[in-house]
Amino acid sequence: MNVFEKDSNIFQLLSEGISEGIILVNTSQEIVATNSSAEEMFGYKKNELIGKALECIIPRRYHHKHGGHFSSFMKKSEKRKMGHGRDLSGLRKNGEEFPVEAGLNPFTLYGQSYVMALVTDITERKNYTLNLEQTVKERTKQLTDALEKEKELNELKTRFLSLVSHEFKTPLSSILTSVTLLSKYKESTQQEKRDKHVNTIKSKVRQLDTILNDFLSVERLELGKVKYTIEAFPLSRVINEVVYDANMLLKTGQQIRYPDNVDEVVVTFDEKTLALALSNLLQNAIKYSPEETTIKIIFTITDDNFIIQVVDEGIGIPKKQQKHIFDRYFRAENALLNQGTGIGLNISKQHLENLGSTLSFESQENVGSTFTIQIPKTIKSTTQ
Ligand code: ADP
Repeated sequence: MNVFEKDSNIFQLLSEGISEGIILVNTSQEIVATNSSAEEMFGYKKNELIGKALECIIPRRYHHKHGGHFSSFMKKSEKRKMGHGRDLSGLRKNGEEFPVEAGLNPFTLYGQSYVMALVTDITERKNYTLNLEQTVKERTKQLTDALEKEKELNELKTRFLSLVSHEFKTPLSSILTSVTLLSKYKESTQQEKRDKHVNTIKSKVRQLDTILNDFLSVERLELGKVKYTIEAFPLSRVINEVVYDANMLLKTGQQIRYPDNVDEVVVTFDEKTLALALSNLLQNAIKYSPEETTIKIIFTITDDNFIIQVVDEGIGIPKKQQKHIFDRYFRAENALLNQGTGIGLNISKQHLENLGSTLSFESQENVGSTFTIQIPKTIKSTTQ
């Protein structure tokens, strides 16, 4: 019978009112007394822990270190907190671990040394802290995202304003010139001249329309507002439409070579996205190629994909700038004399990738570029 059993009434009286678990061990690390909070915390019945080794409430992986800590603590014999900033765990009878905090109080009674451990189950506090950390993390991310969006929006606005003043001015002044000249050609014999100016106006209006559409497209992509319609359609319809529009932009002697193997081809995809991407590629091919060159549209079917390529004999893209070509607003240094916004390729690629297809290119400066759209054959008809 140990002293605590002997003095059990006094010990129990003192310890039972405490919500912390009390565990008393002797120098052989044998548990000599507990209160009911400790028994409940570790999942034992009344007095079940008495006589057991202290290690039965410590997870196995700490056993080897624990012995050393215990004896050096006994030697110093002073009151302290356990763990020193380390996370401590207790082991329940059913094998479950839980986080604890423990204070150790050595004392001597009737010539025997003991340690009283005051143990607190800090699961709730830990969860609360973890939840709080998680909430703070989530809120910080939301704020950073919002800030990022705000920054992008500001960048877009600034970009838009500088474009309005730069990219819009040139076509608008050509439109103004053509309109002014048009009013001067009054004779019926001057129809050819009138047609020329009407065509200039049409092409410049188209140019402005493209820039505006690009901006709207960026905004819709940003806001996740894009709706795609996946349907089967004849490939020739899209190519005809895009080539028809592009013809108006051709420079002297430039020609577009149409693929001769698309007549019967039916593609299942979002028709508008394909038209947007293809028209962007074709307009670039025209814009970044000199007069008297040919632009080829090549169509290939593989086992898994439809492949559409636009090949030009133009200025090409400098090697060291190729990795940025799909970045929004990026324009290669050799392209700066031409009008442009650096948006077209970026949005085409994003739209195509949203639908599981790809856009890639190969290019050599002063030789030409090949842009490739690859559409998987297996895209299912849906309206998203
Ligand atoms: P934009 O043509 O309005 O500048 P894009 O996003 O369509 O914007 O193209 C981004 C950049 O990629 C261009 O500014 C140009 O530097 C380069 N580029 C695109 N297509 C071609 C091409 N066919 N030949 C050479 N450079 C090209």
